[in-house]
Amino acid sequence: MKKLSVAMVRSELILIGYWRRKAGRGWPADDRWPSPEDFVDSSWDANERDQVADYLGRGFVVRACMGFSPCRMCGRANGALELSDGVYVWPEGLKHYVDDHDVRLPEPFTSHVLASIEAFETAGRDESWWRSFVVREPHASNEESFVQRADLDMDSGRNATGWRDAEGNRIDA
Ligand SMILES: [Zn+2]
Repeated sequence: MKKLSVAMVRSELILIGYWRRKAGRGWPADDRWPSPEDFVDSSWDANERDQVADYLGRGFVVRACMGFSPCRMCGRANGALELSDGVYVWPEGLKHYVDDHDVRLPEPFTSHVLASIEAFETAGRDESWWRSFVVREPHASNEESFVQRADLDMDSGRNATGWRDAEGNRIDA
Protein backbone atom coordinates (compact mmCIF):
# COMPACT_ATOMS: atom_id res chain seq x y z
CA MET A 1 0.00 0.00 0.00
CA LYS A 2 1.32 3.40 -0.96
CA LYS A 3 2.15 5.67 1.95
CA LEU A 4 0.48 9.04 2.16
CA SER A 5 2.91 11.80 1.39
CA VAL A 6 3.38 14.19 4.30
CA ALA A 7 3.98 17.91 3.95
CA MET A 8 7.53 18.64 5.12
CA VAL A 9 6.83 22.16 6.30
CA ARG A 10 3.88 23.47 8.27
CA SER A 11 2.20 26.51 6.79
CA GLU A 12 2.69 28.13 10.21
CA LEU A 13 5.89 27.29 12.07
CA ILE A 14 5.73 27.22 15.87
CA LEU A 15 8.16 29.72 17.33
CA ILE A 16 10.37 28.78 20.28
CA GLY A 17 13.45 30.25 21.96
CA TYR A 18 13.01 34.00 21.68
CA TRP A 19 13.70 35.68 25.02
CA ARG A 20 12.80 38.72 27.02
CA ARG A 21 15.15 41.65 26.48
CA LYS A 22 16.06 44.55 28.72
CA ALA A 23 16.55 47.99 27.20
CA GLY A 24 20.14 48.71 26.22
CA ARG A 25 22.63 48.93 23.35
CA GLY A 26 20.08 50.94 21.43
CA TRP A 27 17.41 48.27 21.79
CA PRO A 28 14.08 48.93 23.49
CA ALA A 29 12.94 46.53 26.22
CA ASP A 30 10.84 43.65 24.96
CA ASP A 31 8.89 41.70 27.56
CA ARG A 32 6.67 39.79 25.14
CA TRP A 33 8.87 36.72 25.53
CA PRO A 34 9.73 34.42 28.45
CA SER A 35 13.02 34.63 30.38
CA PRO A 36 15.57 31.84 29.93
CA GLU A 37 16.25 31.85 33.70
CA ASP A 38 12.76 30.43 34.23
CA PHE A 39 13.68 27.29 32.26
CA VAL A 40 16.95 26.41 34.00
CA ASP A 41 16.88 22.79 35.20
CA SER A 42 20.24 21.21 35.98
CA SER A 43 18.53 17.90 36.79
CA TRP A 44 17.55 17.37 33.14
CA ASP A 45 18.81 14.03 31.83
CA ALA A 46 22.17 14.79 30.18
CA ASN A 47 21.65 12.39 27.28
CA GLU A 48 18.27 13.89 26.47
CA ARG A 49 19.68 17.41 26.77
CA ASP A 50 22.55 16.58 24.38
CA GLN A 51 20.12 15.13 21.83
CA VAL A 52 17.97 18.24 21.97
CA ALA A 53 21.02 20.52 21.70
CA ASP A 54 22.36 18.61 18.67
CA TYR A 55 18.96 18.80 17.03
CA LEU A 56 18.82 22.56 17.58
CA GLY A 57 22.11 22.90 15.72
CA ARG A 58 20.91 20.98 12.66
CA GLY A 59 17.87 22.89 11.41
CA PHE A 60 17.29 24.34 7.98
CA VAL A 61 18.35 27.96 7.76
CA VAL A 62 15.14 29.95 7.35
CA ARG A 63 16.66 33.40 7.40
CA ALA A 64 19.64 35.44 8.54
CA CYS A 65 18.94 38.30 10.95
CA MET A 66 20.72 41.62 11.10
CA GLY A 67 23.50 41.41 13.67
CA PHE A 68 24.23 38.87 16.36
CA SER A 69 21.79 38.34 19.18
CA PRO A 70 23.53 38.55 22.58
CA CYS A 71 22.99 35.70 25.04
CA ARG A 72 20.55 36.94 27.70
CA MET A 73 22.45 35.06 30.39
CA CYS A 74 26.16 35.61 29.65
CA GLY A 75 26.17 38.34 27.00
CA ARG A 76 28.18 36.53 24.37
CA ALA A 77 27.34 37.03 20.68
CA ASN A 78 24.99 34.17 20.04
CA GLY A 79 24.16 33.63 16.40
CA ALA A 80 22.30 35.51 13.72
CA LEU A 81 20.41 32.73 11.95
CA GLU A 82 16.93 31.41 12.32
CA LEU A 83 16.56 27.64 11.96
CA SER A 84 13.60 25.32 11.45
CA ASP A 85 12.76 21.64 11.20
CA GLY A 86 9.55 22.29 9.30
CA VAL A 87 7.43 22.28 12.46
CA TYR A 88 9.24 24.60 14.89
CA VAL A 89 11.35 27.66 14.19
CA TRP A 90 14.06 28.87 16.58
CA PRO A 91 17.05 31.22 16.74
CA GLU A 92 20.42 29.60 16.09
CA GLY A 93 21.60 30.67 19.55
CA LEU A 94 19.01 28.54 21.35
CA LYS A 95 21.46 25.61 21.32
CA HIS A 96 23.84 27.64 23.49
CA TYR A 97 21.22 28.08 26.24
CA VAL A 98 20.64 24.33 26.32
CA ASP A 99 24.35 23.43 26.12
CA ASP A 100 25.80 26.01 28.49
CA HIS A 101 23.04 27.33 30.74
CA ASP A 102 21.01 24.21 31.56
CA VAL A 103 17.94 25.66 29.90
CA ARG A 104 15.41 22.84 29.59
CA LEU A 105 12.94 23.45 26.81
CA PRO A 106 9.33 22.56 27.59
CA GLU A 107 7.00 19.87 26.35
CA PRO A 108 5.80 19.15 23.76
CA PHE A 109 8.93 20.46 22.04
CA THR A 110 11.35 18.01 23.67
CA SER A 111 9.07 15.06 22.89
CA HIS A 112 8.82 16.23 19.30
CA VAL A 113 12.62 16.36 19.05
CA LEU A 114 13.18 12.92 20.58
CA ALA A 115 10.41 11.36 18.47
CA SER A 116 11.86 12.91 15.29
CA ILE A 117 15.34 11.58 16.07
CA GLU A 118 13.94 8.11 16.72
CA ALA A 119 11.85 8.23 13.56
CA PHE A 120 14.95 8.92 11.47
CA GLU A 121 16.92 6.19 13.23
CA THR A 122 14.25 3.53 12.78
CA ALA A 123 12.87 4.43 9.36
CA GLY A 124 13.05 1.73 6.69
CA ARG A 125 14.68 2.42 3.36
CA ASP A 126 13.06 2.31 -0.04
CA GLU A 127 15.99 1.79 -2.43
CA SER A 128 13.89 1.01 -5.50
CA TRP A 129 13.44 4.57 -6.76
CA TRP A 130 17.14 5.40 -6.83
CA ARG A 131 18.07 1.99 -8.19
CA SER A 132 15.63 2.57 -11.07
CA PHE A 133 18.15 5.03 -12.52
CA VAL A 134 20.75 2.33 -13.15
CA VAL A 135 21.49 2.37 -16.88
CA ARG A 136 21.38 -1.18 -18.21
CA GLU A 137 24.11 -2.13 -20.65
CA PRO A 138 22.79 -2.79 -24.17
CA HIS A 139 24.10 -6.38 -24.36
CA ALA A 140 25.75 -8.33 -21.57
CA SER A 141 28.21 -10.30 -23.72
CA ASN A 142 29.40 -7.14 -25.55
CA GLU A 143 30.02 -5.43 -22.27
CA GLU A 144 31.94 -8.38 -20.90
CA SER A 145 34.30 -8.55 -23.85
CA PHE A 146 34.79 -4.78 -23.75
CA VAL A 147 35.75 -4.92 -20.09
CA GLN A 148 38.13 -7.80 -20.65
CA ARG A 149 39.81 -5.95 -23.49
CA ALA A 150 40.18 -2.85 -21.36
CA ASP A 151 41.75 -4.89 -18.54
CA LEU A 152 44.13 -6.52 -21.00
CA ASP A 153 45.17 -3.13 -22.33
CA MET A 154 45.80 -1.81 -18.81
CA ASP A 155 47.94 -4.81 -17.95
CA SER A 156 49.92 -4.91 -21.16
CA GLY A 157 50.50 -1.22 -21.51
CA ARG A 158 48.79 -1.08 -24.85
CA ASN A 159 47.22 2.20 -25.79
CA ALA A 160 45.52 3.70 -28.79
CA THR A 161 48.76 4.01 -30.72
CA GLY A 162 49.79 0.38 -30.28
CA TRP A 163 51.89 -1.75 -27.91
CA ARG A 164 54.56 -0.12 -25.82
CA ASP A 165 57.29 -1.48 -23.62
CA ALA A 166 58.06 -0.43 -20.05
CA GLU A 167 59.91 2.69 -21.22
CA GLY A 168 57.03 3.70 -23.47
CA ASN A 169 58.80 2.81 -26.72
CA ARG A 170 56.53 1.55 -29.45
CA ILE A 171 56.63 -2.14 -30.22
CA ASP A 172 55.31 -3.20 -33.58
CA ALA A 173 53.44 -6.42 -33.05
ZN1 LIG B 1 25.23 32.43 27.40
